[in-house]
Amino acid sequence: MSDESPHVQLTTAEREVLLLVIDLTPVGEIARKRRTSVGTVRSQIASIHRKLNVSTNAEAMLWGIAHRDCCLVLPWEHQGDAGGSQDDVS
Ligand SMILES: [Zn+2]
Repeated sequence: MSDESPHVQLTTAEREVLLLVIDLTPVGEIARKRRTSVGTVRSQIASIHRKLNVSTNAEAMLWGIAHRDCCLVLPWEHQGDAGGSQDDVS
């Protein structure tokens, strides 16, 4: 593996889940905060792992910390204007 992890396009839900994972939030707590089931959270985490091409949460967290200000920015967190946001999820 290279030490430079590529950018990955995650869904808003996946970004929110990974941000909570980075904060060491337990899966049960993530499910409660997101008002969903533990099974849903687990499958979202599995999907994140697939997209990031990692197999452990530790690797996903390292990626998430490295990409916190790019790939993990939530649509409503965009500060200023970078000259065009085409990230329109409705
Ligand atoms: Zn990134």
